[in-house]
Amino acid sequence: MTFSVRGLAVAQGIAIGRAVLIASSRVDVAHYFIAADEVESEIERIRVGRNAVIEELGRLQHSVSQMSRKEAPHELAAMLDVHLMLLQDDMLSDGVRHWISERHYNAEWALTTQLEIISRQFDEMEDPYLRERKADLEQVVERILRYMQGAAASLAELGKTETSSTAQKQALRDKHQHPQQDLLLGDTVDVPLVLIAHDLSPADMLQFKQSVFAGFATDVGGKTSHTAIVARSMNIPAVVGARTASQLIRQDDWVIIDGDAGVVIVDPSPIILAEYNFKKRQGELERTRLARLRNTAAITLDGQKIELLANIEQPEDAAAALNAGVVGVGLFRSEFLFMGREAKGLSALPTEEEQFDAYKSAVLGMQGLPVTIRTVDIGADKPLDRNEKAQETHLNPALGLRAIRWSLSEPDMFITQLRAILRASSFGQINLLVPMLCAVSEIQQTLAAIAQAKKQLDDEGIAYGVVPVGAMIEIPAAALMLPTFLKYFDFLSLGTNDLIQYTLAIDRADESVSYLYDPLHPAVLRLIANTIEQGQLQGKSVSVCGEMAGDASLTKLLLGMGLRSFSMHPAQILTVKQQILRTDTSKLSDWTQRVLNSEQPQEFI
Ligand code: PEP
Ligand code: MG
Repeated sequence: MTFSVRGLAVAQGIAIGRAVLIASSRVDVAHYFIAADEVESEIERIRVGRNAVIEELGRLQHSVSQMSRKEAPHELAAMLDVHLMLLQDDMLSDGVRHWISERHYNAEWALTTQLEIISRQFDEMEDPYLRERKADLEQVVERILRYMQGAAASLAELGKTETSSTAQKQALRDKHQHPQQDLLLGDTVDVPLVLIAHDLSPADMLQFKQSVFAGFATDVGGKTSHTAIVARSMNIPAVVGARTASQLIRQDDWVIIDGDAGVVIVDPSPIILAEYNFKKRQGELERTRLARLRNTAAITLDGQKIELLANIEQPEDAAAALNAGVVGVGLFRSEFLFMGREAKGLSALPTEEEQFDAYKSAVLGMQGLPVTIRTVDIGADKPLDRNEKAQETHLNPALGLRAIRWSLSEPDMFITQLRAILRASSFGQINLLVPMLCAVSEIQQTLAAIAQAKKQLDDEGIAYGVVPVGAMIEIPAAALMLPTFLKYFDFLSLGTNDLIQYTLAIDRADESVSYLYDPLHPAVLRLIANTIEQGQLQGKSVSVCGEMAGDASLTKLLLGMGLRSFSMHPAQILTVKQQILRTDTSKLSDWTQRVLNSEQPQEFI
């Protein structure tokens, strides 16, 4: 039966395909496709994990039997019996085997998928005692996952095997090259896949960036959450904040992701399917039409030249940026080099050489065009480790030690990054951008750290180029003390995603308050307009690199405020360019003033 789930539209377009469900688990689980010849070894990994847990529980059972009634209550022995029974149940092992051999899921993914399926069956049971056994099953699976995690970590430590992340990247790469060869869906070889998950960390998203999904939907997330931002950069239709999607949708269900309307349609009837196939083709035609603008200069009707720049997360994104016809990178979110790494905590940080290679590769990839690298913006919804977020829910990480605050609290890490960025500037024009500044003391410490990194390089005789330094204006305090920022920095970049979050006190990642997250709030518009105006008066460049820059419905307003530099995902460039080509900025001033003075600016847009 057809039904739909509403969420937030974050990446446009229509995707139609079979659901691949990523079950949420209390244990951090990697999801990747294995190669066809790895099926047996993957099944073996599960078997070894399961047997180890059976042995462990057997030992526990034995010790419990030696204890007095007082030391070990009867319930404990009964629980162990249930756990052992569940572990040996064919339904678990047969299902896992199916996902590995038919779908080529890695072992952990197969296990959590099968857990989800059996859990649903438990939920439907009438007997409350049996229903409650779901919790036992979850514990058993968690034990196996933890065992497997421990085994993988100790193997990696011994250096005897490739780390799973390297293997997994390779598997994804292979898959990308031969999607139809390996991605078998039973006998339906060519069926596109859409990803359905409760939540995906930005690190998970990066991993999926290399894969073959046609679209995705998550239960949680706001419009400018970092997961949504990476989704947009993947250029596949996406819906976030679809609340119960991952509970209602089942593996293999036919699903339509309507990234324009923010709706997920499950099990569509033939009429709905035909309608959406038509819409999808219309979208493809529109994209082909827009592609003709690629080599057209971004100049308004009255001759104003507009700078269109790209936001990227990885050096490899430079290719898509060039392809979209940008004139540089306006925001390289360097934190993605730091996230989802194999080791945990500070030991996982990329070395100076690793970072240098990445920055150099972005610069070379941009073929002489300037690249603005933002120093690391770790924290809030971009934790270093996938698990960190859950551990810190008692704090509000968006107001905590993130971005430049974290960098200044880890001076060795910060100097390492600055050295790597400076060194890469010998290979092309780099601008350095600093996130989340709000206090003069932070500005001074940051500039001192840059000076220190330069001195170290000078002393070591290592070359670097001229690197202009800019600040992100993304905290209202910064937008209210522009003369200070303009005094210390060469350029400014408006991070409207955070500026909206902090001005309106709306967590950008929280879908339950997303209805209040409003780029057109009069307070937000005034802060933006004032920043652009002050920058112009001082002759310093101001760009917008938040999601507002890529929203074509806001292009005219931003142009009216005097903005001449926009940085966005490559996928949004051509739609924004089209708006620019249609706009006469000389006629915008009265209208812009009316919008800025209005209590309800959205009525003008
Ligand atoms: C912003 O806040 O607008 C921005 C561009 O930075 P990020 O989205 O990475 O926080
Ligand atoms: Mg920001």
